[in-house]
Formats: sequence, C-alpha cells, structure tokens
Amino acid sequence: MDTTKAKIVEIFNSVQGEGKYAGSQQVFVRFAGCNLRCSWCDSSHARDLCAPGLLELSPTQTWAEVERLWRGCHSVSVTGGEPLLQGAFLKEFFSILKVYKVKIYLETNGTLPGALKEVVDDVDIVSMDVKLPSSTGCPAYWQEHVDFIRVAWGKDIFIKTVISKSTTMEDMVKAVEMICQGDPTIPLFLQPNYFEINDGIVDKCREFQQYCVNYLADVRIIPQMHKFMNLR
Ligand code: SF4
Repeated sequence: MDTTKAKIVEIFNSVQGEGKYAGSQQVFVRFAGCNLRCSWCDSSHARDLCAPGLLELSPTQTWAEVERLWRGCHSVSVTGGEPLLQGAFLKEFFSILKVYKVKIYLETNGTLPGALKEVVDDVDIVSMDVKLPSSTGCPAYWQEHVDFIRVAWGKDIFIKTVISKSTTMEDMVKAVEMICQGDPTIPLFLQPNYFEINDGIVDKCREFQQYCVNYLADVRIIPQMHKFMNLR
C-alpha cells in the first residue's frame, strides 16, 4: 500500500565513484533534505526541502522509475542529502525493493542511529560518510557515529571521509577512536579532496593512513572517482 510520498531531487543511472563498490553501475535515488550543513557540501541543492523542481513520489512511483533505469545494476544507491530523514517512506520503498531482490546501498552521514534502526533489516550495504569537523565546519557527532555503527553491525558497512588541507590529525585520531569503539574491522576510505589533489593532499592522506593502520584492519586511499570521470 502506497501511503507516503518522499521529496526526491533526482533518480538516475550512473557509476558509483566512492568506496568499496567504486566502479559499479547503480541507480541513484537522491533524497532532499539534510540534518547537517557542511561548508563544502557538493549536494547543496539536495539539502533544501523546499527547493523548486523537487519530485514528490510514492514508493511505487519511485520503484517504477528505478526499474526503468535498472538494466542489470549492482544496487540502488539511496543517497541525499540524508535519506534517513524520510524513514517512513524508506520502509515502504525498501519492502518493494526486497520483493524484486534489489540490493539496497544506503549512503548516509551516519548521525541518525534511531532512524537507521527502523530500516536496517532491509539494508544490504551501508556507506557511512563521516564529516570531520576540521574539514566541514560541522560539529562533531562522534557518539552518534559509534551508536550508528552498532546499529549497523552485521551489515556490509564501510566508512569514507574526505581529507582536505584543513583536516587535522586531531580529528583523525578521534575518528579512529570512534571506529575502534564501533568495530575496528570496518574498512576506512580516505578520500583526498579533488580540488586539492595537486596540492600535497595525497601526502597528507598517506600520513593519516600510516597512523590509522596501527589501529584499523583496512585503510585505503581512493579519491572520489566520479569527479575525475565527470560523472554525477
Ligand atoms: S551531510 Fe552531505 S548532503 Fe548533508 S550538508 Fe553535508 S555534504 Fe551536504
């Protein structure tokens, strides 16, 4: 039964540019609205729930568009903004995806453990994007992140974070503590800021990697590939 409508920015077919499944073809469903305000948000159009041109779709309508674009994709990337803000919709939408055996890849800022709890049973992959305060100008959400990881236990989860010139080692140390409290076997992806790639940022990522591998099982440096390929 279709009872809820979501505010959706766009639905499209593209290639995942980040993290463990970089290179995979997905259908992306980009939800409007976010609970954070990162200074360099590259989805600022997705933050505004009142932005002109937003789609208002039911779970069935959303599935119809996903199915049209599917063509043997790896999974559906549920992204934003922060998709967990529209939890009631996700519950219904995910139940449809499960009927069609479509893999659910949740792209989230990892600050809403309560909302994750409501839908986690249906989620296959959790891509948790940690915003380090020194990179984004956002407040820290360390405890929320730990709680979030604990709710996601048993799922295919990985963590990504963008490293920029302003990112501090102090934040890196706190991030490692946070991951260790949650689960130190979770892969961590350090993403050198695309705009600073020729500006010493890869060396900085190497320095952070050297530190992180003392505590975490799997730490990789991979840039946001979609930016190099001019993909959405
Ligand atoms: S969490 Fe993502 S969508 Fe939200 S403000 Fe930060 S970068 Fe933008």
